[in-house]
Amino acid sequence: MRSMAVVAFGEPLVLRDVAMPQPREGEVVVKVLACGVCRTDVKIVGGQMPFSHTQRLPHIPGHEIAGEIVSLGPGVSAPIGQRVVVFNYWGCGRCPYCLAGQENLCDDLRGFVGFTTPGGFEEFLAVPASHVLPVPPSVSAVESAAMSCALGTGYHAVVTRGRVQAGETVVVLGAGGVGLHALQFARVAGCRTAAVDINKVKLDAARSLGADEVLFPQEAPSRVREMTGGRGADLVIDCVGTGDATQTALGLVRKGGRIVQVGYTTDARHFPHLPTATLALCEVSLIGARYITRPELARAIELVSRGLVRPVISDVMDFSQANEALARVRADEAVGRIVLQVAR
Ligand SMILES: [Zn+2]
Ligand SMILES: [Zn+2]
Repeated sequence: MRSMAVVAFGEPLVLRDVAMPQPREGEVVVKVLACGVCRTDVKIVGGQMPFSHTQRLPHIPGHEIAGEIVSLGPGVSAPIGQRVVVFNYWGCGRCPYCLAGQENLCDDLRGFVGFTTPGGFEEFLAVPASHVLPVPPSVSAVESAAMSCALGTGYHAVVTRGRVQAGETVVVLGAGGVGLHALQFARVAGCRTAAVDINKVKLDAARSLGADEVLFPQEAPSRVREMTGGRGADLVIDCVGTGDATQTALGLVRKGGRIVQVGYTTDARHFPHLPTATLALCEVSLIGARYITRPELARAIELVSRGLVRPVISDVMDFSQANEALARVRADEAVGRIVLQVAR
């Protein structure tokens, strides 16, 4: 079967023929119909992740996988042909975090799909049956490919970590893959929303998804104050994670408000300086958010299947164009997710 692999960090992916996976006990084989391309893939391919120095190459990236079950390992009963999304973190099930329902923080992942273990830039993938989530036929494979990372991460940031409340004012910094979905969850929760970005095209997308205000960073402080009677936002979802974004978030949040940090940088030149006085004296909560858990992702999929939230797809490209897709994400040209059509 075909795969697109990282052979050397920073170099284009290479088309390689690899062996078809055979499902072991408890596993299913998923035919990868579509795989999203995430900004994190750019960091993985560039060798810029915290784990890159120990990554063995070649490596097959891709962690936004939608497909269908085509074969079953021993002990598995699942419908052949079932459409699924793959959950990326294959937790150990035994560490304190897994036992507490925080599998996204597992100490001993058995699979870290597309990050350190093989991902969806290949036609077939063996997955524990426990780590695929069914998707109704009404949601296309291409749309499903934005759900396991972009949409799921947005849900976890707004709903679980942000503890969003109806009637609040929520500002989303960065109207990219995660941001455009975070915005929709805040809206569905009954909030007033604003999207902040430097890119007019992304702001237009946020507007079309129902953002009440779309703002450039320099105008955001005064406009958000106008929206909130001078107080500031209850909740800021920072999908950017640079020092500049942190400064913007702190300028928008109200006293006693929350900032959810879901974007991050691994580039030390852009690390934020944290004004501890503001955090302490204004009782601003700074809350990290990482990916999502399976029960939450099932709820997010339910919201999509009911038409309340929709996956935002920028472009659909052929698998053979994986390098072009990565280049477009690197150049910040995608509005929502670029999705590769993998197996036919
Ligand atoms: Zn991702
Ligand atoms: Zn664990």
